[in-house]
Amino acid sequence: MGERNKGRDAERLRQQIAELLKGGLKTRTEPFPSSAQEFARILDELRALPPDDLEGKLVIAGFTDHPYGEEEMRCQECIYYLVHRRWCDLPELDLPVEPDWWCRLWKI
Ligand code: SF4
Repeated sequence: MGERNKGRDAERLRQQIAELLKGGLKTRTEPFPSSAQEFARILDELRALPPDDLEGKLVIAGFTDHPYGEEEMRCQECIYYLVHRRWCDLPELDLPVEPDWWCRLWKI
């Protein structure tokens, strides 16, 4: 696939995610994983999903389309965020995201 097509597909998927979140998809923003074990458990849940279950990923990871909490956490500062691609590089997610979105797998 050409780079341009890939970019277009990513944009389409980003739009689709934005619409799901805007449409009020109830995602599990809590509890925020407070230990490596809890973090790993969420990853296990994500791995158990069928690969094309986009809503499932968003729900389990607890996506929001805005910064979260008092500290205004967001993808932009997360170690998994790829600035130039506007992409979440966590293998269990591997999704296009916006810099001011967030999910509970956020890490710095
Ligand atoms: S792990 Fe979550 S907060 Fe971090 S870049 Fe991915 S979607 Fe954003």
